[in-house]
Amino acid sequence: MTINWMNEVENRKDDLLKDLQKFLQIKSVMDEEDATEEAPLGKGVKEALDYMLSLGEKDGFTPKNAGNLAGHLEFGEGEDLLGILCHVDVVPEGDGWSVDPFGGEIKDGKIFARGAIDDKGPTMAAYYAMKIVKELGVPFNKRIRMIIGTDEESDWRCVDHYFENEEMPTMGFAPDADFPIIYAEKGIADYDLVQEGTRDAEAEGIRVKHFESGRRYNMVPDHAKAVLRMEEDHTKWVQYFDTFTKEEGIKGDCFMENGELVITMEGVSSHGMEPDNGKNAGLYLAAFLSKLPLAPYEAEYFGFTADHFFKDSRGVQLGVSFTDDITGDLTINVGKLRFSEEDGGRIGLNMRYPVTFDMEKGRKILDAIEGYTIENFDDSEPHHVSADDDFVRTLQKVYEDQTGEEAELLSIGGGTYARSLETGVAFGALFPGREDIAHQKDEYMYIEDLLKATAIYAQAIYELTCEQSS
Ligand SMILES: [Zn+2]
Repeated sequence: MTINWMNEVENRKDDLLKDLQKFLQIKSVMDEEDATEEAPLGKGVKEALDYMLSLGEKDGFTPKNAGNLAGHLEFGEGEDLLGILCHVDVVPEGDGWSVDPFGGEIKDGKIFARGAIDDKGPTMAAYYAMKIVKELGVPFNKRIRMIIGTDEESDWRCVDHYFENEEMPTMGFAPDADFPIIYAEKGIADYDLVQEGTRDAEAEGIRVKHFESGRRYNMVPDHAKAVLRMEEDHTKWVQYFDTFTKEEGIKGDCFMENGELVITMEGVSSHGMEPDNGKNAGLYLAAFLSKLPLAPYEAEYFGFTADHFFKDSRGVQLGVSFTDDITGDLTINVGKLRFSEEDGGRIGLNMRYPVTFDMEKGRKILDAIEGYTIENFDDSEPHHVSADDDFVRTLQKVYEDQTGEEAELLSIGGGTYARSLETGVAFGALFPGREDIAHQKDEYMYIEDLLKATAIYAQAIYELTCEQSS
């Protein structure tokens, strides 16, 4: 049977756009202050979940509400289950929109709204893909299930709850990232290195009363501040600061205030996925401080921080550097730095490690660091589906059929929704070369891309789950 998938989509285009507009008009921003038992994450996200479940019920899919946090729509027959993982929650709209962020307005070949590309547009594309395959009336050898989450943008309580109680799909894809296919994602470990020991009040040297930089593990901090007490004359340190900042090409300020020396540093923020894209203000300031004649407790912390992390985002000095062909280098972002006289020093790290990295061994290396204890260790394991897997090959073939472009397999340092599936990849719906406007003002999706994605998903579902007669 030869099916023209794009024709099937074009025939349903008006309905698809109408249903998507209604979906986009639901303000499904998490609101826990507005939570009830029926709507644990607020009325908006629950309304969006109900909208998809009732749309599916009307079209003959079997709906299920999973604890008001997630749900699914199922059809097909067979032992195996194909999962399509989507989410209906959106991030707050923010300011500066030129259209109604919850209007779903169509202009210039685009549909605009918060959630248009992340993830309501792709969700509706996948939904219509299921509907098309169902309406073809061909025999199935698998079941197909759209799994609908409501907490992807925050804490993933939706998928946590869902997979505690429901079946894990044999294979699946999440239309919540980029085309062609993301088949490998690094592991992501957040943790704090906490300085041991206490300060000696009698010891000589410059004292750091307070030092702080960064608020999030996964961001390169662009601001750092330290307050120093010193007995001696400060002018030579102010001069030295000028030399240091000039040599390093970093901006900062150094001045006396209420008898204390205040030092600030301004770097460049970026996502912690690639720390080298930013300029870590905290590390520059730590490196500068490490060169002063500090009191021993301070000298230990700033020396350690500068030696192990300044201009080393690959964990070389820490002894954990690693690289593989699938996901590339292990990276370490120093997202939070703190020092105070009372509590000593802390270093908050976001470590992204390749899929073949042995975390057990890595953890031993970290535990053996002298003078520091590990706290708040939070590890999300790497995610990887083999490039030789039939499932991946089928998606590649379908993508190439529909676009005429090579379906390159991508690996990333970030985490996508697909990692909550055991065998799952991220598959669309942002096409290569398109600007990524998720979470930004005037978020949109090209209508052309919406339709193309629908055709890709429909053919993919068909080839993965239907009896193919030749
Ligand atoms: Zn998303």
